[in-house]
Amino acid sequence: MHCPFCKAVDTKVIDSRLVSEGNQVRRRRECLSCGERYTTYETAELVMPRIIKQGGIREPFNEDKLLAGFSKALEKRPVSIEKVEEAVHRIKARLRSTGEREIQSRNLGEEVMKELRILDEVAFVRFASVYRSFKDLNEFREEIDKLAKGNPNSVHP
Ligand SMILES: [Zn+2]
Repeated sequence: MHCPFCKAVDTKVIDSRLVSEGNQVRRRRECLSCGERYTTYETAELVMPRIIKQGGIREPFNEDKLLAGFSKALEKRPVSIEKVEEAVHRIKARLRSTGEREIQSRNLGEEVMKELRILDEVAFVRFASVYRSFKDLNEFREEIDKLAKGNPNSVHP
């Protein structure tokens, strides 16, 4: 990072140690231009992005709501709660890894569909038909056809 005193680009790390039970890295830096020393702290960003709903309303990411969405789609389907929790965990990891502070609710819906498609085809179709609100019957049929061809991870042209 740039020196906060003289804005020089080159600074040198002179000491680096774990603090706060290993959840934070504390670094002493020295500016190569002006010689000033300063400290930086580095922590992992574990905050989930906020969800932008239709109409632009923002709301916090809600894991319970996400789980409820899965449960509804998976009602009376032979999928264990462990599998669902794993799926939710993967979605959260992917959303975090985008580095975005806000994401469209549509993108979250696509993530859920991606996971449901692997977990259970019936649940996927249930969720997709409600969530994506297919424009017409053909679009819906295309999704079913993709499933019928198997290989849920490949995109058919
Ligand atoms: Zn400096």
